[in-house]
Amino acid sequence: MLLKLRYYGDPFLRKHCREIHEVNDEIRQLAKDMIETMHSVNGVGLAAPQVGVDLRMFVSALSEDGHLTAPEVFINPKIIEVSEEGWVETEGCISIPGVYEEFERPTWVTMEAMNLEGKTFQRTGKSWRGRNLLHENDHLNGVLTIDRVGKLRRRQLEPVLKRIKKKYIVK
Ligand code: ZN
Repeated sequence: MLLKLRYYGDPFLRKHCREIHEVNDEIRQLAKDMIETMHSVNGVGLAAPQVGVDLRMFVSALSEDGHLTAPEVFINPKIIEVSEEGWVETEGCISIPGVYEEFERPTWVTMEAMNLEGKTFQRTGKSWRGRNLLHENDHLNGVLTIDRVGKLRRRQLEPVLKRIKKKYIVK
């Protein structure tokens, strides 16, 4: 089932999401629907708040070299370690259409999370894969790409963000 995507201006995108206490059929269905929704907009990752669910879960489907890959579900992810060195690249977000911003992130990250069977696993993501994991993890804390750019750039983006709010948020 396709889920309704939330866009910049929607309060769900600013929520600090809640831990998932039990990985049950409802959660597995949500994951399935999130993957379907992500594919429907050619996304390479999607976090639960982007479909109006304030739970700590995301899907990542970006390979290290920046291509669409098999989706992997992360439940209650925690950052175990990030690289000291960073890299600057341009990043977009399904929830902020047309906005692509350049900023620094660590070159790799190791995360621990649960899968859809409720089993704990660790994953190290490098390059674009790591960038995607960090991007989706940000969503669970209400953090967006536009929060990671400089103050001046953020001010420049205001009119664009206002337009997005107007276009996508139907009262
Ligand atoms: Zn995003």
